[in-house]
Amino acid sequence: MDSQINAKTRSYANIMLEHMPVGVALFDAPAFHLLACNPLFETFLDPGWQNDRAIGHPLSDFIPGWVSEAQAASAVRVFRKVVETGTAYRVDWYMAPSRGSGTAYWNWYLEPVADQDGQISYLLLTVNDVTAQVLARQPAEQAHASLTQAHRAIEEEHKRLAVIETVARSVRDSMDIQAIGKAAIDTLAQDFNTWNVSIHVDDPMQQALRLLHAHLLTEDAQALAILQLVPYNSSLLLAQARQHRDPLIIEDLQTGVTSGIVASDHPLLAPDTRAYICVPLWFHDHFEGTLAASFNVTIQPDGPEVKTFVGCSTHIAAALAHARLHAAIENQRTRLRAVLDQLPEGVIIVESTHGRISYANAAAADIFGVPLAHLVDVPFNEYAQMHALTYIYGKQILPWNFTVIRALCGEKVTGQETVVARPDGNQVITLSSSAPLCTESGIITGAVLVFRDITEQKSLEQQKNEFISLASHELRTPITAIQGFAEILHMKAAQDTSLDTLTLRAITIIAEQSQQLTRLINEMLDLSRIENARLLLNPAQHDLLKTLRRVIENQAIALRNHSIRLVLKGLEATDTLPGYFDEDRIIQVMSNLINNAIKYSPAGGEIEVGLRHRPEEPAKALIWVKDHGIGIPASEIPHIFKRFHRAANLDHSISGLGIGLYLVHELVTRHDGRVWVESTEGAGSTFYILLPLKANQQ
Ligand code: ADP
Repeated sequence: MDSQINAKTRSYANIMLEHMPVGVALFDAPAFHLLACNPLFETFLDPGWQNDRAIGHPLSDFIPGWVSEAQAASAVRVFRKVVETGTAYRVDWYMAPSRGSGTAYWNWYLEPVADQDGQISYLLLTVNDVTAQVLARQPAEQAHASLTQAHRAIEEEHKRLAVIETVARSVRDSMDIQAIGKAAIDTLAQDFNTWNVSIHVDDPMQQALRLLHAHLLTEDAQALAILQLVPYNSSLLLAQARQHRDPLIIEDLQTGVTSGIVASDHPLLAPDTRAYICVPLWFHDHFEGTLAASFNVTIQPDGPEVKTFVGCSTHIAAALAHARLHAAIENQRTRLRAVLDQLPEGVIIVESTHGRISYANAAAADIFGVPLAHLVDVPFNEYAQMHALTYIYGKQILPWNFTVIRALCGEKVTGQETVVARPDGNQVITLSSSAPLCTESGIITGAVLVFRDITEQKSLEQQKNEFISLASHELRTPITAIQGFAEILHMKAAQDTSLDTLTLRAITIIAEQSQQLTRLINEMLDLSRIENARLLLNPAQHDLLKTLRRVIENQAIALRNHSIRLVLKGLEATDTLPGYFDEDRIIQVMSNLINNAIKYSPAGGEIEVGLRHRPEEPAKALIWVKDHGIGIPASEIPHIFKRFHRAANLDHSISGLGIGLYLVHELVTRHDGRVWVESTEGAGSTFYILLPLKANQQ
């Protein structure tokens, strides 16, 4: 009965083994003969070993052909290890050729089976086909892998941006080139896996790149000495960077040496150096220097190291450029200050925002007679009112604060005379000019006042004026008498027929010369009157046409080689032209111009005196005096109305003091008129006067 049951159970067990979805095989130990297996297990074997043909054979005999020798040896080792240790061995997802096509995945489980004595006498191998599960999990696994990769890339990018941001922040606010170099290098060396990192700045004066800052992993004095100053023509890679816009990257230095890109004795070639990058630092079109680093790993042109260094380089280049420009401006400023400090002229700068003196030089303090510290930061207005007088030798002058206010309004004021009352009671006469200080966009930020002590010069001038005034006064009395008696003699001589021609001529010359002398003395007197602000006009209503006729008649008497002609435009000979002017002074002006026309056309000729009045400009008259004489060189014309100026084209026989035209200009200007000349050297001159006919209402 028992044997019947046992036989039945065995046949059930066989059915179960045959239909199990798991391959099962039993081996003896330690020889690893196959004792029994189910059909599924046999499917792993080569066809020649299937259908129980492997039973009784050791494992090494029937290992399938697709298993490599190494794998077969390792399988035998695993079997042995399980016997020795008594510990099961498991392999998940073992890849094997599929029975159909493609790849199959198996979980292997090798379990030791002990007998009653605890000896490992069998090994049970179960093989589970997990291809379906593996294939089902694969897309998820792949998605996970690519997510992990993306995450890593984001992390790297984040780190890269953080480094760039830190470098940008550390270099942004500094104007000190050294500090920028140190901040950038410290950040890069700390946050990045760099080996050596250095910044060089361009030094065009030395035709070299100068080391600004470096972080070297090992203290290599020799490498440091080489890096200190890298001439443009050096063989070092960073010397080449100035010719490039893109970074120079050597991904693998060892390959670089083999391919000859890098010399084998290159100082970069420390034993552990693997890669190198040199980024030229450009700010717009200006080469600022280089940022270079070597790495102990190989790098990729699109790798994080290159991206970070390139990203940082723009910030470093901008910071270096700003610092360079700032240093250049500071340098200029210091030089300018040094020049201003040394100037013999006083210089004061007044700021437009608060009206205080922001700068004064030593000469300014000297002229003001105060210590320099007392001048700076003082409101200029207060100072100017306290110390600057507005009158000089009785003549009113514009106070400084007005000059500065005009400069602050954008106007340039030159040749302003001012008297400074010094605290010690002395007075200093200054000649000052002021001008606005503007930004490039034209905004006025302040005013500069430059002044020179002209006290000595002024007092000499004053003495000279006083002498001229005194001398002309003293001369006037005798000459009046001489002229008077000469005229009497002249009149008498005209009636007396007994006089010989020589005596007659002598009397005529005495009369003419004393007249000329009187005119010169009067001019000198007028000059000193103008200097001392004592020349006053006596305007009244007159007929300008009549005045001109009077002048012409007076002049015509003495004419010899010349003729004089009155030309009227817009007027009839019978017309009158009423105007409000000082007749004596207008006669003086006209006589002066006509005398000059005669004097400077020694060959004779016609002198034209013209008067034009136009209905469209009823309040003005244009007068001119035209000659055909020697003319005035173009270069002399701007100076011709200046005191004592005589043109260079004169021959010495034409005498004069150079005062006449100065007086003409003064007198016409005081009538609110304008005088100018048009002239061609060798062809003649025309002097024009535009005279207002009505009194100035202001
Ligand atoms: P002066 O005649 O005493 O030299 P002015 O002041 O009258 O002084 O004239 C200044 C200078 O202008 C003269 O020296 C002369 O060179 C030039 N000038 C004036 N009038 C004429 C003119 N009509 N033709 C040429 N040059 C003239």
